[in-house]
Amino acid sequence: MALIGITNCRKIEDYRQAVLHVGGDVRILDPSSGVAEALNGIGGVLLTGGEDIEPSFYAEARHSSVTEVDPQRDEFEMALVREARARKLPIFAICRGLQVLNVAFGGTLVQDIASQVPGSLEHRFTVPPHQPFDLAHEVWIDKETLLSRLMNERLGGADTCDVNSRHHQAVKQLAAGFQISATAPDGVVEAIEDPSVPFCLGVQWHPENFWRTGEFRSLFEEFVEAAGKT
Ligand code: MN
Repeated sequence: MALIGITNCRKIEDYRQAVLHVGGDVRILDPSSGVAEALNGIGGVLLTGGEDIEPSFYAEARHSSVTEVDPQRDEFEMALVREARARKLPIFAICRGLQVLNVAFGGTLVQDIASQVPGSLEHRFTVPPHQPFDLAHEVWIDKETLLSRLMNERLGGADTCDVNSRHHQAVKQLAAGFQISATAPDGVVEAIEDPSVPFCLGVQWHPENFWRTGEFRSLFEEFVEAAGKT
């Protein structure tokens, strides 16, 4: 059975359940261990959500909206994903995880969508109450991408889908070797992938919040399946 390493975060339970429900085993990875130790026996790496990345890691000064950072976590996760990619391990990166993936390989971020992307949609609900799986906006999925293939059965040939959204940052400069696989109607990057390997995918929304209802189960299924082959 595939052992999936999940980077620790405050809302770990839905990530854990999303992997367990498609037959994966889980190990929670923590900055207290070294990268080699963390990856020992791991078939795939799941990068989770959380606070903003310290902007100095992509050579920018901090925007006023960036108030909470954890450089130790940033450094651990960037080293982890670089080593995982060097080993060609399947990588699934969610929200902050997508941003870690992009910055680790030389990309940069929009630090605050609301103030830096003219005419942007709401990517973060500001008025409570809301549920984690409440849908926020559409994404347009590019044809001939891994994401498109994974979503094909559910979308029945369509190339748009509604997603939840809890982020205020996004990809600005895309890391070399990656391609954009989905965007929101306002142009914000919502998914990226490395087309040179079987499974290296980042999504800006939170598919793990849907583990009970299965809207994005195929992403976790294929990820865990790919991790079982390493
Ligand atoms: Mn969004």
